[in-house]
Amino acid sequence: MTPAKSSPLPALIVGAALTLAVSTAYAACDSSGVQLQVLGSGGPGDSMGRASSAYVLWVNGESRLLVDAGSGSKDNFHQSGATMGEIDLVALSHLHPDHSVELPAILWPGGGSFDLAGPSGNDGFPSITRFTELLFGEDGVYEVFQGRVDINVIEVNPSQRSQVWQQDGITVTGMGVPHGDVPTIGYRVEYGDLSIGFSSDQTAADPAFVDFIRGVDTLVIHMAANENAVGVIAELHATPSAWGQMAASAEVGQVVVSHISTSDPGELQTNLAILGEHYDGPVVVSEDMLCIAVK
Ligand SMILES: [Zn+2]
Ligand SMILES: [Zn+2]
Repeated sequence: MTPAKSSPLPALIVGAALTLAVSTAYAACDSSGVQLQVLGSGGPGDSMGRASSAYVLWVNGESRLLVDAGSGSKDNFHQSGATMGEIDLVALSHLHPDHSVELPAILWPGGGSFDLAGPSGNDGFPSITRFTELLFGEDGVYEVFQGRVDINVIEVNPSQRSQVWQQDGITVTGMGVPHGDVPTIGYRVEYGDLSIGFSSDQTAADPAFVDFIRGVDTLVIHMAANENAVGVIAELHATPSAWGQMAASAEVGQVVVSHISTSDPGELQTNLAILGEHYDGPVVVSEDMLCIAVK
């Protein structure tokens, strides 16, 4: 089906000169090629009204992949025109609520038949298999979904790089990323010669991830920390300079800044300026419902 019109909010592009300009380059989700639609551009805590992490990947006009299902993304999912009838893979990066809590709401009341990828667990977090059982199993919290969902779980081991999923020319690979003690998967999606990387929440401290996303056309980064972040925020999230260094080292085609976790627009601009000191390629500041061509 044809994707719905994109956000009325303009995309902001910041270049090496740190100048901001309204762009019309990403006006709408096209019905051909690969389009990234941001359902949630916000992060944990106050995010200036943004929903939290969720993305639809449109391939030739069909909503094939849902990456993350963060808080507030249900309405945006429906507004986007995406349907669970078309979604073949839901890939959760990790089981923090701002990435996973909205999945039952997105599925309700219709349910769906799909593959569900996510990390294996540890002492502090359930595996994606256990998560699915706890929510949708016979004795699960949402037992009401019995008969409404048909979920094939794909458990991704964060300790190794692996192929997660492949269908109709779409290939998804995954690898663990450093996000404290939280099992977290970064995904790389390829279709033909197009590629997109989903960094998820991480500290950008693993050089192997730079190799993993090397040369992608589009890299989604989660800018949840300021340059001077301390404590748990700094332990879990990369600084803007670290993101910039990663994007530059990996020679990515464009960066999409997401997971924006601030109530202060000035703080965001400061972070973008620091990012731009290290990465001189195009940067798209995401907004909920924004469509971005992967090219
Ligand atoms: Zn997060
Ligand atoms: Zn997280």
